[in-house]
Amino acid sequence: MLIDNYGRIINYLRVSVTSRCNFRCKYCMPDKPFSWTPIENILSFEELFLFIKLAIDEGVTKIRITGGEPLLRNDLDKFIYMISSYKKDIDLSLTTNGYLLPHLAKDLKQAGLNRINISLDSLNPKTAQYIANKDILQNVLDGIEKALSVGLKIKINTVALKGINEHEMVDILNYCKDRGIEIRFIEYMENSFAHSEVKGLLGKEILELIKKEYSIKKVGREGSSPAFKYEIEDDGYVFGLIDPHKHDFCESCNRIRLSAEGHLIPCLYFDEALNIKDALKNRDIQRALDILKSVLNNRPKENKWSHDNLDLSNRAFFETGG
Ligand code: SAM
Ligand code: SF4
Repeated sequence: MLIDNYGRIINYLRVSVTSRCNFRCKYCMPDKPFSWTPIENILSFEELFLFIKLAIDEGVTKIRITGGEPLLRNDLDKFIYMISSYKKDIDLSLTTNGYLLPHLAKDLKQAGLNRINISLDSLNPKTAQYIANKDILQNVLDGIEKALSVGLKIKINTVALKGINEHEMVDILNYCKDRGIEIRFIEYMENSFAHSEVKGLLGKEILELIKKEYSIKKVGREGSSPAFKYEIEDDGYVFGLIDPHKHDFCESCNRIRLSAEGHLIPCLYFDEALNIKDALKNRDIQRALDILKSVLNNRPKENKWSHDNLDLSNRAFFETGG
């Protein structure tokens, strides 16, 4: 079993397979092209899988593939299959912007993927284009329908942005409610890669907007999930709110992150990370385990986003995978 320096059990690994992306979401990336990590510095699927096997053998039961945009990586379905066939009951999921799902959803499902989170920040084509710096909406909506049709369980992630999509919170919630999909509203997490004009709504502001339309009641947090659940009283529909500015979920945080470049990252907020790339390239499993244990011994108690002080994190979401 993996336990960190605050006694938290770590059983959830998030693996970013690329930091590249076909979108330029204003809250995540700058618009201007920047130099990507050269391909030779990216861990191969075999190398990532070595670490995944180690993590599973040490007690990890939940794995999420993310990015950048994970569907940009060729043969992702083969990677999913490697993991799902190593441990049949692993809780295996993926986070994607959905753009390439119309072509890939079926193969991913057949490879053993159980669940998928799709980002949807607007139902208005122009707003979606403004946020992602690309005309994306129809492909994303088609991706959601395709994922539903092949039987993937879906959640929608929506980042709430002041003056950009805040008036759409209820519309996006209704879109999900009509399809029986859970939505999780996410507070924008301030970071130095985002556009400086981006401002987020706090969780309580998101709830106020929803309360104008619906009576809601608190349900609670499921296990170590960062999402606090609320229920619409009229019809029992449940939605989630991820509000890291309160960081009350840090005390039960069960996750670590591996980036495509081999950084083992103890917390979404902090810069501290150790590189495990050489150990994996040399197939030195004992060294990889030693690095993993060092990272677990150096996890922060909580993130530093807060209501009073909107500090910027210097960790890039497109590297850590959110
Ligand atoms: N490209 C995929 C996507 O967008 O779903 C996966 C990677 S993305 C980094 C993972 C999640 O992080 C997405 O739901 C995205 O909306 C969220 N995210 C990115 N930057 C964020 C920020 N600054 N604050 C809050 N959530 C953010
Ligand atoms: Fe790409 Fe996802 Fe970041 Fe948007 S949030 S730029 S889709 S990695």
